Amino acid sequence: MPEPAFETVIGLEVHAQLKTRSKAFCACPVTFGAPPNTAVCPVCLGYPGSLPVANREMVTLAMRVALAAGCTIQPRSVFERKNYFYPDLPKGYQISQYELPLATGGGVEVETDAGVRRTVRLNRIHLEEDAGKSMHEFPWEDVPTDSSLVDLNRTGTPLIEIVTEPDLASPGEAFDYLLRVRRLVRWVDASDGNMEEGSLRCDANISLRPCGTAALGTKVEIKNLNSIAHVKKALEHEIARQAAALSSGGTVIQETRLFDPATGATKTMRTKEEAMDYRYFPDPDLGTLAVDAAWVAEVKASIPEMPEARAARFASQYALPVSDAELLCSARPLADWFEAAVRAHASNPKAIANWLLSDLLGRMSDADRQAGRVPVPPESLAALVALIDGGTISGKIAKEILPDMIATGKAPSDLVKEKGLVQISDEGALNEAVSKVIADNPAQAAAYRGGKAATFGWFVGQVMKATGGKAAPQLVNRLLKEELEKGA
Ligand code: ADP
Ligand code: ZN
Ligand code: MG
Repeated sequence: MPEPAFETVIGLEVHAQLKTRSKAFCACPVTFGAPPNTAVCPVCLGYPGSLPVANREMVTLAMRVALAAGCTIQPRSVFERKNYFYPDLPKGYQISQYELPLATGGGVEVETDAGVRRTVRLNRIHLEEDAGKSMHEFPWEDVPTDSSLVDLNRTGTPLIEIVTEPDLASPGEAFDYLLRVRRLVRWVDASDGNMEEGSLRCDANISLRPCGTAALGTKVEIKNLNSIAHVKKALEHEIARQAAALSSGGTVIQETRLFDPATGATKTMRTKEEAMDYRYFPDPDLGTLAVDAAWVAEVKASIPEMPEARAARFASQYALPVSDAELLCSARPLADWFEAAVRAHASNPKAIANWLLSDLLGRMSDADRQAGRVPVPPESLAALVALIDGGTISGKIAKEILPDMIATGKAPSDLVKEKGLVQISDEGALNEAVSKVIADNPAQAAAYRGGKAATFGWFVGQVMKATGGKAAPQLVNRLLKEELEKGA
């Protein structure tokens, strides 16, 4: 395959809705799915004379994300008005930050397509408020179908915008970055991070340049990306489109494009020539946002052990493969579940990890994994592993019990008793079964004694069958060996 002529440069702007109870600059509740225009007040409706007051919790949550990403918190940042007209923006401007954002610098570690860890630099994280929602489809029969309605419940909801430097080199890296940013905002409890519900939104900027050159090419911004998979698809499409234009001697026009999930293609939304002049200026109603060192220190102290560090600790403290440790840390509730189980049965973390990753994760949806909704409580899995480790049941019986634990919510020890599944480790009882199997199968016994060692496994299976799988495996092995050798 010939070397590609162009290399890809991508920068992402991610909006994350912050999990505050009230809006960014008024006391209205932040709701999702409430009846339209019921969570509004003069401030978020932009009535003249109403005054915004910045929500302290919003700033705290933004700082949690920023500090976790290694950003510098600016002691002074400024809220500005970003002016434009739109029906879902009653004030005629959005309160945002521009010249002086809350946080600058920092980075997010990603994995390249070749599996190498690399840091994507952040340009800044700033605060802003959301706009309302225009509705073009609705369930009300008395409203003409060609109408558009506006729901202003979302107006004034606090957001952070996380802006990268143009550091990403492929759609795959962009995909990985978004997974990690989603994990980051969830990990520090700052945002729900659901792209489908709109609490995480992404605009993707992309340009191509001849391989080996340093100057950035002309970029295109892609909007309307409402899943991480769409971001990847849109970027792939855009690479092909821009490469075709450039290879045939044409140019890329700087513009905003929309992604159409139905076709997998992007199309022009507006070119830079038509782009609005937002005429940013400091909001005279809000003044400077001052964050003192004590506040920063307090937020810093509240940040939990982050996923990269926690995965490294899991790998060393619990002697787990790095890939398993990372899977356990794909969501904080999942990592918490694992450690709760380990606390309940501390002597075998490896077995607990194996059960969680091989037997439980497969039964869970992605949403369940993210939320740590494991179908059994951690103490129950710990109890199951303890029963195996203590020799009460075999691993095979444990696998049979697990579905019942999930279905009934009963403790494994109760299920073992109820079903009479306690492992037979009584030598007398087992010896009887072993002798009988050997007596019933003289041909196989002769074969084994004649040197056909593989027959041994078959005998183990027969004894297991005869005891309903309840025989203690090590004991079966020893007794069988003794009995078979006796007759040799
Ligand atoms: P704008 O002024 O159009 O908003 P910014 O300089 O603020 O552009 O950058 C917005 C985003 O686009 C950032 O994530 C940045 O890294 C990215 N970006 C800027 N220039 C390019 C480029 N030439 N190619 C790809 N991404 C770019
Ligand atoms: Zn309000
Ligand atoms: Mg910009």
